[in-house]
Amino acid sequence: MSTEIETNPGAAAAAPIEADAVIVGAGPAGLFQVFELGLLGIKAHVVDSLAHPGGQCTELYPDKPIYDIPALPICGAQELVDRLLKQIAPFEPTMHLGQEVVELQPQADGRFRLATSAGTAFLARAVVIAAGLGSFQPRRLGVEGIDVFENHQVHYRVRDAQSYHGQRLLIFGGGDSALDWALDFCGKAASVTLVHRRPEFRAAPASVARMQELVAAGRMQYLEGTAAGVRASGGRLEAISVKRSDGTVVDLDTDHVFAFFGLHPKLGPVAEWGLAIEKKALPVDTAKFQTSIPGIHAVGDINTYPGKKKLILSGFHEAALAAFAIAEHLNPARKVHLQYTTTSPIMQKRLGVSG
Ligand code: FAD
Repeated sequence: MSTEIETNPGAAAAAPIEADAVIVGAGPAGLFQVFELGLLGIKAHVVDSLAHPGGQCTELYPDKPIYDIPALPICGAQELVDRLLKQIAPFEPTMHLGQEVVELQPQADGRFRLATSAGTAFLARAVVIAAGLGSFQPRRLGVEGIDVFENHQVHYRVRDAQSYHGQRLLIFGGGDSALDWALDFCGKAASVTLVHRRPEFRAAPASVARMQELVAAGRMQYLEGTAAGVRASGGRLEAISVKRSDGTVVDLDTDHVFAFFGLHPKLGPVAEWGLAIEKKALPVDTAKFQTSIPGIHAVGDINTYPGKKKLILSGFHEAALAAFAIAEHLNPARKVHLQYTTTSPIMQKRLGVSG
């Protein structure tokens, strides 16, 4: 499996990658789609806005047990993703992570042009949208006037950590990302101030203990409170006003602000691709799981049809049928026969399990 993570957002668009199939979304449905296409001899590219595969399982509940995956009486959510990644490995999908698909346009020659936020472009003969509840977006600092500083002085992820060394940093949040980065920047930045709204932290207890040690030693600052306003001058953010839990407000001078409040899914660009949409989902038929545009399929939580249930096993079934439809779409002259993995030499060869 080859993986490409966004390194240069906004880079000039390169020549499009020509592909038989592009899958938008690397949640359980998108990953199993790779498997079902692979069995039929179709290689796939997979794009996800997150930096890791797994969708909701990895992002929202990695440590929780799942009890309704067939033949696995209990399976951790991250464990399920790891098992899927192992299962699809023989088909060597190319993963394009940390980039959102922002454009999807049918072309005159029947193919589809996709473009990502990182400048990657594809010309695909078939597309599967496995976008779940949408693309995961960072929860933003809810302070008036802060948006204009986004990506310059206000950040929701760290890119090029070294560029913040020697600067005055304000970090908001109480989870692992906030604590990990506060600890990482401590001693490298000119100053680090961590702000969290309540005394309880979601981060690993060892990280919290280390942060408290550093605060006690005067090597970083900690404040319990929430962002309440911005102070700017000449187009530059100078300070964030923080309302402390006792109601007092303090202005914290800063060069860069990081907020790590977690991610939430948003339908986002999928809604702008000219596809029929019903209640924030893509209506599909239940034979091909095809959307209102032939050649574009939708599987998993993103689709809707009579009786739809947003369950992982529904996505698995949908991926199997979509793969058959895509195989017929790519090779209309060739009938796609049902074969069993138990007995099919060609499928076993593709799986790498036969001599
Ligand atoms: P998702 O898992 O949502 O993945 C979609 C992916 O697409 C995301 O990674 C997203 O970043 C990406 N994406 C979206 N738009 C774009 C774009 N434009 N460009 C690039 N990437 C994009 N189901 C069960 O069957 N059993 C359970 O026990 C169970 N427990 C659950 C517990 C919790 C707490 C939650 C929140 C859900 C649970 N579910 C359970 C539901 C299950 O997780 C979902 O049905 C499943 O994740 C759907 O898979 P998916 O691949 O369709 O979408």
